[in-house]
Amino acid sequence: MPEYETKIREIAKGLLEDGKADVIIGYKKGSIPMVNEPVLIRDPNNVENLIWDSHCALNLCNYLTGRKERIGIIANGCNSRNIVTHIVENQIKREQLYIIGIPCTGMIDHRAVKRAVNDREILAVEESEGRFTVRGKDFEKTFEKKDFLQTNCAVCLHPNPVVYDEMVGENVKIPEGINPFKDVEEIERMSAREKWSFFADLVSPCIRCYACRNACPLCYCPTCFVDESDPQWVGKSIDPTDTMTFHFLRAYHCAGRCTDCGACERACPVGIPVRHFTKKLNKDALDLFSWEAGLSLDQRPPLDVYRVDDYNDFVE
Ligand code: SF4
Ligand code: SF4
Ligand code: SF4
Repeated sequence: MPEYETKIREIAKGLLEDGKADVIIGYKKGSIPMVNEPVLIRDPNNVENLIWDSHCALNLCNYLTGRKERIGIIANGCNSRNIVTHIVENQIKREQLYIIGIPCTGMIDHRAVKRAVNDREILAVEESEGRFTVRGKDFEKTFEKKDFLQTNCAVCLHPNPVVYDEMVGENVKIPEGINPFKDVEEIERMSAREKWSFFADLVSPCIRCYACRNACPLCYCPTCFVDESDPQWVGKSIDPTDTMTFHFLRAYHCAGRCTDCGACERACPVGIPVRHFTKKLNKDALDLFSWEAGLSLDQRPPLDVYRVDDYNDFVE
């Protein structure tokens, strides 16, 4: 999106030169095509490194936790919702932030593209007008972006930033007629035995590398429960019980907080669709509490709230 990049760079340069931000958090080109990297820029002369395209899929909110300086940060729909969650959970202050809002048309699933070119090495990618072209040593292929969206982006109902100081473009249209929980409903229809075997198969390739945890802005505990040794909440092996315990507990720690940004799934080196866990809890939060994470600065997540007039009798 060249026009967005120009605007992002202009705003970033202004913020750094005018002393309104000490650091800009954005994306730069990665060392391999289709995998852009987060970048922190402090020198106004370096803003040309900032980019925006369909490969900016890591969640930048991950770099906000506990920072004390003034920060300019770019944010699309899901990242802005994680920023809201971070503010509500006192991990950053709203007044520290200048949020450069980006209307989002979704991220490309680089693994799906790789499969579509029979795992050949992709050396370059170019994007324009809803299509993208990948080139390798002896091939060139053009695809429709809509056919290669990450699975979370294909069902995203909040592509526009919910909080921002300045937008780089007009809001994109919210898609209609999408059921974001179709996959969850399919699993809900399974018997208990089928569910167990579905999730056992799902996590069986897990190597407990914790890339999913590390990519998630919700996982900011100084010591994660998996790293505790006294008490040791869960074994550290890839024994199926230990692995499943890790996934269940991680998902529960994200309940009512997950924005379905997809960073966890994208980071997994063995391609496990870990969002199957968090999406069920997102659906439950919506069904039971009419709650979607990160939409309001004035409300706390449901599992974080105590009300004496709660209609559930467990409070009494
Ligand atoms: S989940 Fe929505 S806002 Fe986030 S990258 Fe995908 S389309 Fe964009
Ligand atoms: S659990 Fe995954 S999808 Fe949810 S906020 Fe964390 S990284 Fe994003
Ligand atoms: S990133 Fe993948 S392999 Fe690593 S712990 Fe998470 S699910 Fe397991």
